[in-house]
Amino acid sequence: DRIVSSEKVSKEDVVDKALRPTRLKDYVGQDAIREQLEIFITAAKNRGEALDHVLLFGPPGLGKTTLSNIIANELGVNLRQTSGPVLEKAGDLAAMLTSLEPHDVLFIDEIHRLSPVVEEILYPALEDFKLDIMIGEGPAARSIKIDLPHFTLVGATTRAGSLTKPLNDRFGIRSQLQYYSARDLTSIVLRSMKLLNMPANEEAAAEIAKRSRGTPRIANRLLRRIRDYSEVRHNGQLSAEIAKAALTMLEVDPIGLDSLDCQFLLSIIEKFQGGPVGIENLASSVGEDSETLQDMVEPYLIKEGFVQRTPRGRIATAKAYSHFNLTKNVRSYS
Ligand code: ADP
Repeated sequence: DRIVSSEKVSKEDVVDKALRPTRLKDYVGQDAIREQLEIFITAAKNRGEALDHVLLFGPPGLGKTTLSNIIANELGVNLRQTSGPVLEKAGDLAAMLTSLEPHDVLFIDEIHRLSPVVEEILYPALEDFKLDIMIGEGPAARSIKIDLPHFTLVGATTRAGSLTKPLNDRFGIRSQLQYYSARDLTSIVLRSMKLLNMPANEEAAAEIAKRSRGTPRIANRLLRRIRDYSEVRHNGQLSAEIAKAALTMLEVDPIGLDSLDCQFLLSIIEKFQGGPVGIENLASSVGEDSETLQDMVEPYLIKEGFVQRTPRGRIATAKAYSHFNLTKNVRSYS
């Protein structure tokens, strides 16, 4: 349960929902995506048609679910929400598809995790708005065909590369979400401060933005813990100093690294002479499984240039050494 994790921790609660922008104009950053969607949505509405199917991809916590809500709102239609692993049987998807009204949005999160049988049902639904499904078993089995209303599928994935080609090909609109700049994150935090009835303090917002790993979900989570700290220790007052003190208490360092990130880096530097070291060795040294390290720890450290992944293993970069005020001992062979 890392505070800097970009994953959804549990079911979304009331506060999380309240912080979610509901209109395109309130969605901060991702300017290119916002402009494209605005045009495509307006064009579809003017023609009285369903919007083309949309694929949203990028790391967790960057606003894919939020965008799918906004798309439905801007189109003025219902949103039906599900996810790849939840749709186990063909019938689960058939039930959702047959409940749609014309031009509705069907949101499938983690769409790369759809089972092959469910995906088979999805192809004709996306292409021809037809449901073609077998009912019954053995000699009594028969296929039924149902016409579906024209709808829009919004698929979200953290791994666009894991989508099968036929599914990939059926999305007319594809948007890759990027990590947010500190400036955009500051705006998001300022907006959240207002919605949480906190004093909107720009310096405190900037401090949170710097430590949020480019991710709005982390920024909002840090803000909520800072709100607790400020209410209990400082009568609800907020300043850059109070925000810094709360973040120190939460063990999130000035650039958003937590103790697991630091352990990971220090392990390469101190136990493996800076690397290269294989992920399995590193995992046992840190006491975490290798998948957690690969999915939750490494990507940000690589993106920020602290670690390089080479065919021979992970290497700590000069930036990693200087972050801990260490110097690399170059081995001498003379
Ligand atoms: P994803 O589906 O990509 O994992 P979410 O859409 O659930 O991410 O976003 C996580 C949280 O971050 C949301 O609850 C929302 O409050 C906030 N958020 C995401 N993107 C934005 C944005 N562009 N502007 C403001 N808040 C955002």
